[in-house]
Amino acid sequence: MWDDDREERVRRGTAPRETAPCRMARLLAAVTLALSLAVVVLLAGCGSAATNSGPGADASGGPAATGAAPPAASGAASAATEAPSAQPTAEPSPARTPMTPRPTPTGTAPSPTPSGASAPGDAGKGASGASPGATTVVFVDVGQGDATVIRSGSWTGLIDGGPAGSEPAIEAALTTLGVTRLSAVVVSHVHADHTGGLTRLVGEWRPRTAYMAGAPTAALAGALSGAGTAVVQVRSGAGLQFGAARAEVLSPAGLSGDANSDSVVLRLDAGGKSFLFTGDCTGPNEAAVGSICARGPPIDVLKVAHHGSRYSTSAGFLGEARPKVAVICVGPNSYGHPTPATVGRLLAAGSRVYTTWKNGGITFTVSAAGAMSVSFGRSSKPVKKATAAGGSAEGGGGAAAGAAAAGAVAGGSTASGGTIVYITKTGECYHAGGCRYLSGSRIPITLKDARGAYRPCSVCDPPI
Ligand SMILES: [Zn+2]
Ligand SMILES: [Zn+2]
Repeated sequence: MWDDDREERVRRGTAPRETAPCRMARLLAAVTLALSLAVVVLLAGCGSAATNSGPGADASGGPAATGAAPPAASGAASAATEAPSAQPTAEPSPARTPMTPRPTPTGTAPSPTPSGASAPGDAGKGASGASPGATTVVFVDVGQGDATVIRSGSWTGLIDGGPAGSEPAIEAALTTLGVTRLSAVVVSHVHADHTGGLTRLVGEWRPRTAYMAGAPTAALAGALSGAGTAVVQVRSGAGLQFGAARAEVLSPAGLSGDANSDSVVLRLDAGGKSFLFTGDCTGPNEAAVGSICARGPPIDVLKVAHHGSRYSTSAGFLGEARPKVAVICVGPNSYGHPTPATVGRLLAAGSRVYTTWKNGGITFTVSAAGAMSVSFGRSSKPVKKATAAGGSAEGGGGAAAGAAAAGAVAGGSTASGGTIVYITKTGECYHAGGCRYLSGSRIPITLKDARGAYRPCSVCDPPI
């Protein structure tokens, strides 16, 4: 499954254990590339997003109280410490223990502390030009899957590691930020579109801690063990210190056995701005997260659950979370993600919607004072219409949708064994089996799933 050439290079020490000059050269190249591609839109405390957002748009930027603890009602067990027995190296430790910031060789002045946050003296390594105390959140474009890098001072975390093959994109993001080692990884859940790339990354970037809810896969467990990473089970109510930013676990309270439902959901507060990372959360757990959010200020940036699946991101949840900006991590896929229904709900809720498919990698930077800016790897245009397959109009087409229509990765939708129709890698229509448009690619999908996301082909007249 892994790239043997890369493996070989790793063994020879030419990658990714690079020498400092080599890393620096790559860093400079990456920064240059990023500057040439990025379109920076100053959101002025999310103000510009807010201006389009209708009700609830507080252009004042009203800093959410950083570190505002979630309501005690959600408290419960903050960190169940039973590590799965299949995890031999698990070294459970209290999840409330703040991460120890790792001093950087070039450590500059201690970062100013955002209002109210109790940041332990982070040395802001401004490798990417970020000011001390700033927090950067990068939604990496890994196609159909999730990978988010969080950099705050000298602390760096990775939430999910994308599907297999996305390691280069994630490593480029880390290198651009001047990262040399991961402080922590958060495994939202163990589906392959979130952990396929993680196994290798863990070996190479050796996170000190892995936060998760439930058991890792055997491969991931082996990688964590090999990297000497401590596995910490987290549950709702746990508080984590991510550099100058404060994270709270909002879900799950316990394990249901459904990986998507049991996704670790985190709210990150940085410089008075809030990010909500949802994994593939759905159902009652999403409702629980919504009720917690309802008691706080609107979410500034929502990582939309489950790649825009219609089974998550309910109107009720959106009414409670009130996200100003919504990011959908998604790429070519046969599930119809992001579904028009979900995009429509987000737009109706007044959110500014971006997708990694259309916009490329999306980078938010929040200064210690709470000014937020965003840049894009591809386009800066938000999604305006709830049409099928968010990215199909812009690039990304042709990429591997795979023959995974019946796959279990995204889960949730199959069932009912109903009528099967077919879609193509790039098209917006679904087809009957004999349609001539299926000569290039022919991906089976249930009619039930095709209905919301694709139009019936006007040539072959598939069932409606
Ligand atoms: Zn999943
Ligand atoms: Zn997923």
